[in-house]
Amino acid sequence: MTVIAKFGGTSVADFAAMSRCAEIVLNRPQTRVVVVSASSGVTNLLVALTQANITDAQRVALLNDIALIQQNILQHITQREVISQALEVLLSRIWQLSEALVLDRSKSLMDELLSLGEQCSSLLFAAVLRQLGGRAEVFDIRRVMRTDSHFGRAEPLIDEIAVLANEHLAPLLDDTVMVTQGFIGADCHGKTTTLGRGGSDYSAALLAEALAAEAVEIWTDVAGIFSTDPRLAPGAKALKEISFNEAAEMATFGAKVLHPATILPAVRRQIQVFVGSSVAPEQGGTWIRHQVTDAPVFRAVAVRKDQTLLNLHSLKMLHAQGFLAHIFATLAKHKISVDLITTSEVNVALTLDKTGSDSSGSGLINAPLLQELSEHCRVSVEDNLALVAIIGNRIATTSGLCRRVFSVLEPFNVRMICQGASAHNLCILVAQADAAAVVSALHTDLFESDVD
Ligand code: ADP
Ligand code: ASP
Ligand code: MG
Repeated sequence: MTVIAKFGGTSVADFAAMSRCAEIVLNRPQTRVVVVSASSGVTNLLVALTQANITDAQRVALLNDIALIQQNILQHITQREVISQALEVLLSRIWQLSEALVLDRSKSLMDELLSLGEQCSSLLFAAVLRQLGGRAEVFDIRRVMRTDSHFGRAEPLIDEIAVLANEHLAPLLDDTVMVTQGFIGADCHGKTTTLGRGGSDYSAALLAEALAAEAVEIWTDVAGIFSTDPRLAPGAKALKEISFNEAAEMATFGAKVLHPATILPAVRRQIQVFVGSSVAPEQGGTWIRHQVTDAPVFRAVAVRKDQTLLNLHSLKMLHAQGFLAHIFATLAKHKISVDLITTSEVNVALTLDKTGSDSSGSGLINAPLLQELSEHCRVSVEDNLALVAIIGNRIATTSGLCRRVFSVLEPFNVRMICQGASAHNLCILVAQADAAAVVSALHTDLFESDVD
């Protein structure tokens, strides 16, 4: 049995956290591949380094902060000479790239810089595993994680990854745990790419698919997937199991605990996914499976902040054909995917999928896009909105469900509603300032009262 275990940023934040994760790996001999994120905060610091117009002093401060996080872990490694040299090479590469970016602000350089967080954490994590008695080596995932060249948000090339993983990675798994990097890959020219923020979950699922693993374990800072973000509702409950469909909807609509694309490879290969806490593994966690015993109407509430609503107005829309085709062609050209959409006689309102933003956090709406849309219609943009999604089953076919939801929403202004495309969600757009209160009110009514 092969299991791929992924440890997120807080799980590999420092030596103590890495040691806890190493114990989890050593207690589970089925774990053959370990995928790690950069230590907590490192990717944010690297992203800050890619920003235009930072001063030299700010750059040096960021570089020092990054080095300090790694050195604090290194100092606990007893046999550290070789690791220390390898780490030095990675840290000097960060310096060089941050200098190179002053002149050349190419996305490919940015991706190479961002990849160094995971390169450092994988080097250190393998050393911690060995120190605790395991056989472990670092594996450069760029040898197998082939992607296109869309730097900042590269698309994995599934077939090529399967061939490369079976050629280069599978033969190494017999008696050694391979510790590798999440989030990063390489295009066909060998240039480093990234899969977008939070992409390490996706990396683990892609590797599981390529290696035909039995399970993927996502070890994080919460004991599973909860009925809503436990930071937003103290009454949130950990779910024992949920279906692929429910998990995919939750991730798509903002449950940060899983990167939205994670479920796709798992569904293609029917690989079960476990989500648990690396701090308290004994608490168990959530299994995401194809078949689950229970399919409640209400399963969870998710929220996605910082939503943008585009309102498009055109008299040409009236009784016309092809207007939406133009709009979608323009959005596709700018690599923007749409989340919610509603139409009226001469208006279309749509929200943009921010999960499409790239690793360096560049915004989606830019002047060329607005210019092109304005050729077809009048455009207005509303910001500071949040998308709240109620996730469950039979939502489109259960009577009385909307009445219950809307009675909870009574004190709030609902800017847009979408329901009907899927049996698994009902989405509402509200002011960002109301989001936490809306989630909490919905959670209390749908999950903490006795009515079902
Ligand atoms: P990692 O660094 O391990 O990838 P993330 O910060 O990306 O961890 O994801 C874990 C966080 O996801 C939790 O701390 C929690 O606040 C948030 N989260 C959002 N929605 C949910 C949910 N429904 N269940 C559990 N956690 C959630
Ligand atoms: N380190 C990357 C990030 O912070 C990827 C990940 O953690 O999943 O976005
Ligand atoms: Mg994450």
